[in-house]
Amino acid sequence: MNHTTEPITHKAKKRHRCSWCWELIEPGDEYRRYRFYDGGDAGTVKMHPECFDAMQDEARDWGGYFEWTPGMERPQRTPATQPTTTSSGHSDAAVIKQEQEKS
Ligand SMILES: [Zn+2]
Repeated sequence: MNHTTEPITHKAKKRHRCSWCWELIEPGDEYRRYRFYDGGDAGTVKMHPECFDAMQDEARDWGGYFEWTPGMERPQRTPATQPTTTSSGHSDAAVIKQEQEKS
């Protein structure tokens, strides 16, 4: 049986790792936090607000609960407070190769 507490919004006092995208949550940033209980395990999940939303979208598709591996793509949602662009070396450019099928 899995159980999660209601997520609450916190303001970071120190750095955290986002459980979704594994990027840093900087001090002063707001983040969503909840606790989960999974059998004998318990833990705290901390996420950027936009990552939390993305997770909820996924969870809806999976029927309410699913597991993920940290390192998911962080959604672009708050351009106003966008920090300097981080290039992690991973490409998210979709390469469309439909042209080849026509030749
Ligand atoms: Zn995140």
